[in-house]
Amino acid sequence: MKVGVLALQGAVAEHIRSIELAGAEGVTVKHTEQLEELDGLIIPGGESTTIGKLMRKYEFIEAIRAFSEQGKPVFGTCAGLIVMAKEIENGEEAHLGLMDIKVSRNAFGRQRESFETNLDVKGLQEPLRAVFIRAPLITAVGNEVDILSTYNDEIVAARQGHLLVSSFHPELTDDYSLHTYFTEMIKTYQAAVL
Ligand code: GLN
Repeated sequence: MKVGVLALQGAVAEHIRSIELAGAEGVTVKHTEQLEELDGLIIPGGESTTIGKLMRKYEFIEAIRAFSEQGKPVFGTCAGLIVMAKEIENGEEAHLGLMDIKVSRNAFGRQRESFETNLDVKGLQEPLRAVFIRAPLITAVGNEVDILSTYNDEIVAARQGHLLVSSFHPELTDDYSLHTYFTEMIKTYQAAVL
């Protein structure tokens, strides 16, 4: 199984390490042609406006939409979540607009810019150690979206079919269980197309 990590900006190497611990081959993705060989794609954290601009510049918007339309799983973390959302609060233009969620950027305010906590995540056996860094929140979800985790009653992880998002960074600890969960989503996709 080959899983790409979009390498335009942000926390790329850590995702490659975690997805490899989960048993997949990690691929650093810099060109749209590379998407063809992939079974799944991770869009990392970083700065969503910058990632969005670079995605437009290097023609990743249409390419990732086409990838997702084939039913291939996409996992966005933090800024990656923001670029996957259909709606961004404060009237900012959506980027990929793949997932039926509304997001608020930097939603934890200055006092809680970055912190770590243990989270219960639906589908994972053990609580996950989650690192939040100037993280977004999901403020509304469509009917097809399954909420996987909340923190203080706010949504911090969700899934819509083959799309997975988390407002935190799951790649900055030794716990790769959410990456394993993503590889299970890829196996489900592969079983469906065979
Ligand atoms: N605050 C960043 C943004 O709004 C996201 C931060 C992150 O990815 N850790 O794009």
